[in-house]
Amino acid sequence: MPEEKTLLQPAATGSPASAGIHTEGLNKTFAAKGGSVEALRDFTFESRRGEFVGLLGPSGCGKSTVLRVLADLEAPSGGTVTVHGRTPRELREGHSLGIAFQDAGLLPWRSVAANIRLPLEVAGRRDDDAVAELIRLVGLTGFEKARPSQLSGGMRQRVSLARSLVTEPDLLLLDEPFGALDDLTRQRLNFELQRIWAERGTTTVLVTHGIGEAVLLSDTVVLMSPRPGTILEVVRVDLPRPRTREILQDRAFHALCDELSEKLFAGNRDGRGNKNGHADEESG
Ligand code: ADP
Ligand code: MG
Repeated sequence: MPEEKTLLQPAATGSPASAGIHTEGLNKTFAAKGGSVEALRDFTFESRRGEFVGLLGPSGCGKSTVLRVLADLEAPSGGTVTVHGRTPRELREGHSLGIAFQDAGLLPWRSVAANIRLPLEVAGRRDDDAVAELIRLVGLTGFEKARPSQLSGGMRQRVSLARSLVTEPDLLLLDEPFGALDDLTRQRLNFELQRIWAERGTTTVLVTHGIGEAVLLSDTVVLMSPRPGTILEVVRVDLPRPRTREILQDRAFHALCDELSEKLFAGNRDGRGNKNGHADEESG
């Protein structure tokens, strides 16, 4: 992206608003039948504003819990979180959060345009230009009046992505948004997501258990291991942008995927993670 140089400057100290995501000693324990589940332990992490962060790890390692804490859908059991110097609560109340999940969660009786418009209505705003611009950006021109039932799974996720961006959020949270789609559609949408992110410059967190997907899209990949969910390592992805289809044949891309795979494997064996130590096996 054009501002890459400025984004790579370290955040000015004493000015939390210039920072991206900052978590410090984040813990989350769920009360559950027959005991409690420690979903996150000491999740401490820092990213820059505008950065694309991938959260990568096997099913059950706490990825969605991190996302839900960032979204103010769960309160942490301990620790602190800020994004651009603000708490998740402040972001949510300021309508500065965009969220898209694996299930597009569209309202079936509303048209494409009316679904995308919904967060604006909730915020008491109206911005027909923003809706039209997003429909163009996600490639749904001509489908403004269509109902969700008339769309393919990939098109529904495009609507979901447009809806998550319509309030121009400070933080975009994506939880395996293309996880239920076929490989080709997912690949196409990943490249589109990269283009949209580059155009908007939104601080983004993508939860995925796909190593290739994480490397393709991220500036930084946070590798996690389960029970309790901890950070194994934070890996910087220095592949040039924009990343095109050719990168999928690129040696550096595959070397990095192999490296992450090794690290996940090492971090999830010896009784940690699922039985076979496979990090990329199930969906979460
Ligand atoms: P991931 O998204 O990486 O698959 P999650 O964050 O969904 O993992 O879950 C992490 C762990 O916390 C899992 O063991 C899961 O069963 C547990 N967990 C998540 N949400 C709850 C909840 N609301 N109540 C009890 N346990 C939960
Ligand atoms: Mg999950």
